[in-house]
Amino acid sequence: MEASPLPGLEALAAEIRDHRGCGFEPCETCTNPVPGEGSPVAEVMLVGEAPGASEDATGRPFVGRAGRLLDELLAAAGLAREAVFITNVLKARPPGNRDPRAAEVAHSLPWLEAQLALIQPRLLVPLGRHALAHFAPGARIGEVHGTLVVARGRALFPLYHPAAGLRSRALKEALFADAAALPGALAEVRTGTGFS
Ligand code: URA
Repeated sequence: MEASPLPGLEALAAEIRDHRGCGFEPCETCTNPVPGEGSPVAEVMLVGEAPGASEDATGRPFVGRAGRLLDELLAAAGLAREAVFITNVLKARPPGNRDPRAAEVAHSLPWLEAQLALIQPRLLVPLGRHALAHFAPGARIGEVHGTLVVARGRALFPLYHPAAGLRSRALKEALFADAAALPGALAEVRTGTGFS
């Protein structure tokens, strides 16, 4: 019988939840680290920036206002929230919602890479420029959102961060147009077209 990927992911989530003592401010000051959640065999993995206040309070990713918009975007893409995996580059909330610092991102990345290695999604959806910077350094979200990008052997379909869609009607429209194009990108990576 094929081994289930679940125990590895759960052990990783437990490690993230129990993690303290590194001295990095987000890890030391957060209420709840947020490992991420979703299907262990997800074809699509969405990666945001860092937990916000609602996520810090609940230990779950994208459950505040931006999360509600993300749920609508997933519905527009024909994807159930339970069918995808949702996480963040940073697993702990930076105090006051400040931007993550480079050293904090570097500290968090091994967990994200371990999640990727366990889930092996076909399509990665970086949400916003901070997540995009990890997967495709130098790419600009304003240029590549809603397009299939292959970077470092990974298929990416970058989207604006949902929080940006809450602030700007134009970006919200772009988010919904991109979400509608996501199934096409997924079909392309399933069949291997668009790859050289
Ligand atoms: N913004 C993020 O980048 N991640 C969350 O989990 C919530 C809001």
